[in-house]
Formats: sequence, structure tokens, C-alpha cells
Amino acid sequence: MEYRVDLRDLKFQLFDWLPTEELLGAGRYADWDREQIEMVVDEAAKIAREKLAPTNEDGDDEGARLENGRVTVPASFREAYATVAGGGWVGSTCSPEHGGMGLPHVAGTVVNELFSGANLSLSLVFLLTRGAGQLIEDHGTDEVRGLFCEKLYSGEWSGTMCLTEPHAGSDVGASTTSAVPLENGRYRIKGEKIFITFGDHDMTENIVHAVLARLPDAPAGTRGLSLFVVPRVRVEAGGGLGGANDVVCGSIEHKLGIHGSPTCSLLFGSADGCEGFLLGEPHNGMRIMFEMMNAARIEVGLQGMAVAGAAQQAALAYARERVQSRHWTARGAAPPVSILEHPDVRRMLWTSESYVQAMRALLLQTSYFLDKAHLAAGDEGARYQSYVDVLTPICKAWASDWSFRVTEWCLQVYGGYGYTRDYPAEQYLRDAKIGSIYEGTNGIQALDLVARKMPAAGGRPFRELLGMAAATAGRFAEDPLLGPPAALLGRALEEIGELAAAVQERPDGPLMMMLNAVPFLDLTGAALSAHLLLEQAGVAQARRAEILRAKGVDAADREAYQALLAADRDAAFYHNKILAASHFAYRALPAATAAGVALRAGETAPIDAVM
Ligand SMILES: Cc1cc2nc3c(=O)[nH]c(=O)nc-3n(C[C@H](O)[C@H](O)[C@H](O)COP(=O)(O)OP(=O)(O)OC[C@H]3O[C@@H](n4cnc5c(N)ncnc54)[C@H](O)[C@@H]3O)c2cc1C
Repeated sequence: MEYRVDLRDLKFQLFDWLPTEELLGAGRYADWDREQIEMVVDEAAKIAREKLAPTNEDGDDEGARLENGRVTVPASFREAYATVAGGGWVGSTCSPEHGGMGLPHVAGTVVNELFSGANLSLSLVFLLTRGAGQLIEDHGTDEVRGLFCEKLYSGEWSGTMCLTEPHAGSDVGASTTSAVPLENGRYRIKGEKIFITFGDHDMTENIVHAVLARLPDAPAGTRGLSLFVVPRVRVEAGGGLGGANDVVCGSIEHKLGIHGSPTCSLLFGSADGCEGFLLGEPHNGMRIMFEMMNAARIEVGLQGMAVAGAAQQAALAYARERVQSRHWTARGAAPPVSILEHPDVRRMLWTSESYVQAMRALLLQTSYFLDKAHLAAGDEGARYQSYVDVLTPICKAWASDWSFRVTEWCLQVYGGYGYTRDYPAEQYLRDAKIGSIYEGTNGIQALDLVARKMPAAGGRPFRELLGMAAATAGRFAEDPLLGPPAALLGRALEEIGELAAAVQERPDGPLMMMLNAVPFLDLTGAALSAHLLLEQAGVAQARRAEILRAKGVDAADREAYQALLAADRDAAFYHNKILAASHFAYRALPAATAAGVALRAGETAPIDAVM
């Protein structure tokens, strides 16, 4: 399968909009400069196109298989995995001290978009391996760090995260997997985990599971969970491999999408022979695991955006080629034209494009804040981290929900062919759906936003994020082109404030909050993203003005301006950036704002209905 991506927009967002260069050359990013980051991005794009994308269809067709107790992935995955691991990409954003590449998170986000867009199924193993390694680096003893970190960051071994059990999905605190201390300082693990991504496969000689389990004296609920590192094959004190560690894959799921990613049911210690290492303090496992989950939640939003971006680019290429029906301006007999000429097809493609750019902006800004949180000391670092905390459920849920819809619009562009397996549109749609489900469903993300993240620190971080958006709306209020979208943004921001106040004042506030959490998250995601696209449009306007000046073209002279757009790719790019921002505001903001009507009216049909 061919992978197409708008590298120009990736680089614009990374360098022309975000002040990424200010992060480089000092502190933890002392060894990086812009040129090197651009080389990294180009190399990642090459690997994505040449190594990962060609295996995406194999993953979907062949899928993962369970045979004689072991999972095999499509043969082509092994070479692609080796390329990514061999290039040091697994630990892209991890510390060089333990074998990571040390990339800033903003750059890591771009790399992850490229890999996930080219092959979502395979890229999941990199995400999980990096996440497990990072947990061990941050919370392991020297012994555990020494045994596992480098092996994970180098991709020699892979990693997983094991939370879900048959009766403990959204309610992780209901987990019953047990851990009993042993005389050798390790723990005997026993229990069943289900839905474990890359829980078993044949690409590495060992798999390192991060497992939540309960010690004998543990309190009930999430506060009683501890975190353990449990390798599939035992690891000797010197780092060599020992015998099997009694971790068995009982079955794999047969799923709607991401067929190449094995989703495994794992039995730990069914023969009482499974040993693990405690990570961090006893009963503190959920707090530690949240670090991996929060990073993974941002990456799930990113996966959705990546697949949506690939789907949009593929649909655009198809629309250019497919000839059907005469031009809408034609009268009488006329030859058929490319479907890209039809206004409704252009609407589907441009709405998709503007949503992809919006998701990319939201994810890159969150990654930038994460870099600032790591670089800045004291209160400033904490302030940036508080923004990341608020944005995490929004990145996860808003981007994964809309990416699925984008893949649907893109499938529609193909007409009947989109519904067949001849084109990639249907795989993109099936693959994108998982984003709203795993890493905590989007319903749970919305509750996290309204019940925990919004009120955190007296509501300061949430208010400050909205304040940044309001400043942007104010900045463009008088702009002839961007004024109307800025006004829509201003109205959406007012609505967020009014709805939050209404929930506080109503006697049925808590129920209203739960019933409307998902639409509220949608409104917040749309408003924050619209603000970022407006900022980008501001940069694009300035760049376009420079080109117009240099070429002596008056934008009001329609003919001369169209000729410039046809001849100058930069001018066309900036022109499109401005249109993406305004289109997104017109399409996304009024629709998201209208969702407040039900809350204001106190509409409770879902509760009152007999179901
Ligand atoms: C392909 C795939 C890969 C996965 N990979 C992993 C993995 O690597 N590791 C891992 O540990 N898990 C993994 N999971 C599990 C995934 O995280 C869970 O499926 C998810 O958290 C939901 O849990 P559940 O399926 O038990 O649904 P349930 O918890 O039963 O939820 C069902 C529905 O009820 C809603 N709901 C539940 N509780 C509430 C509430 N309090 N308020 C409002 N709504 C609620 C949910 O939003 C959902 O719509 C994976 C799942 C899939 C499908």
C-alpha cells in the first residue's frame, strides 16, 4: 500500500508555526539543531514509505495468527521491525544514557505520525516498547533498569502494558491478578490479562510485560494495585536469557481492524512459575502506570490523526484520477471531468484536510508543552505540565473520534470502490476505529476532562488554555479574512464558559455533566484546535504577503493571483493554510457549539427512556 503524507504541512507546523528551534541547542536537547531534526523527519518519512507502508496490506490480509501456543505476525513485518529497531527509532524520545535517541517530543510526534500513518498495526509495538522502557527508566531499580532499558529502547526486546482483565476494563481497580513476594526479592505473578496488544509475537526473543497486580495486603480498588515487570523469558542476573517464565498466550482476538497487531489473552503463572520485578513502591502501581497511559493516550490521538491524514491523501489522489459526470458549470453535452471538480467531493476532501491539520496542531502543541515541561525548571515546568494534563484526554478523544469520521468521509469520496477492498479507504476506516476504544474509551476520557482535569488546580490550567485561544480570537477580530472565523471561535469559547457555569448552578449539575461530557469535550477540542489553526493562518498570511510583494502581485487582481497560485507552490501552500483555518472554524465550531442546547434545556431523555 502506498503511503502519502503532507510533509510540507508537518514541517510548517514543526518549524514555521511552533518555536521548535528555541527548544534546541541547550539542556537536554543540546545536541540537536534544526537541520538535524529535518534530516530525522526526512529519514523517518523514507522508512515509512519504503519499509512500513508496503507491509500494511499484508498485516490486514494475513493478520496475526496463534499456532501451537505462539503468535506469528506476517513475515514482512519482521524486516520492517528490524529496520525501525536497527535505526534506533524505538527509543526515539528516550534518554541517550539508556540507549534512546533523545529527540524532542515535538519531533518524536512527527516521526510517530509517519510510522503510524504508514502502518498503524506495526507501529503499536514501538509505542508500547518505548512506553515500557520509559517506565523502567523512571521507576526501576538500577538492577532492573540495567536488565531491561537498553534492550527495549534498541527494540531487541519488545514491551506491553497489561491492565485489562475479563471483568476489569474501564474499572481497572477491579483487577484480581495477584503478586506474592518471593525470597529472592522477586514476586510470583498469577492471573489473566486480556486484550494485550503485541502480548505475544515472533519478532523478538523476549517480551517485557508491565503488569498491574495486587499484593496480599493490598487495599481494594486502584489504590491496591502495584506494578511489575514480567518478562516472557526469564532474565539472568548478567542479562542473559534463562528459561520460560510461565507466560502463555491463550488466544488472540479476531477484530474489525489493526489485524496485523495481535491482541492477546495472556495467562501469567498458570503453572505457578511466573516471576516479576516490582517497579516503584508497593500499592503505587496505578499512579506509575498512568505515566505510560498518559503518554499512550496522546499517541492514540496521534495514531488517529496519522491514519486520517493518510486516508485524506489517498482519497485526494483517487479523486484526481477518477473521471465521472460533467463539470457543474457545463450546459448541455460536455465531457466528464475528474470527480475533484465536483463541489461536494471538494467539500469532503477539504473538510477532511482541515480536520487533519487541526488534529496535527493540537497534538504538536501538546508535545511542545511537554518539551517545555521537561526543559523548564520549577513553577514554569509545572505550569506546562498542567497544560499537558488538561490536553491529554482532549488529544486522545477528540482526535480519535474525528479521525474515524475523516476516514468515513474519505471512503465516501471513492463511491462504490471505497466499499471494496481494492482501495485502502476501508482499511483506514477499520483501523482508525480502535482509537476511540483502547487506552480508556472516549466516554471515560470525557469524564476525566470534566471531573478531574477541568477543576484541577482551581481550574487555572483550563482557564489559561482558553485564555490563549481567546487572545487569538481577539487578535484576528478585525482581520478582513480571518475575522469571521475568529468571531466563531470567540462564540465557542463563551459557550464553554457558560456551560461550565450552568453545570455548577443547576441542581442536576452532576448528571448534566455526565450526560454532556462527550459533547463538551468535543466543543473544547474544536475551539482549542480552531485557535491553533488561526495562529497558523496568521503565519501563512505574513508569508503570503511577502511572496505577493516580491512578485508584485495584487491579491485583489483575481487573474494574477490565480496565476501565482498555479506557478508558485509556496504561495499555494500558504493560501491553503488560510483556507483550512477558516473552513475548520465554519464547519467545526457552530456544530460543536450547538451541542450546548441540550445541556441548557436540561434534556434527560437518555435517563428517562425505558431501555
Ligand atoms: C484492539 C484492542 C487492543 C487493546 N490493547 C490493550 C492493551 O495493550 N493493554 C490493556 O491493558 N488493554 C488493552 N485493551 C483494552 C481496552 O483498553 C479496553 O477494551 C477499554 O479500556 C474498555 O474496557 P472494556 O472493553 O472492558 O469495556 P467496558 O469497560 O465494559 O465499557 C463498555 C462501555 O461502557 C462505558 N463505560 C464503562 N464504565 C463507564 C463509566 N463509569 N461511565 C461511563 N461510561 C462507562 C465505556 O465507555 C464503553 O462504552 C485493548 C482493547 C482492544 C479492543
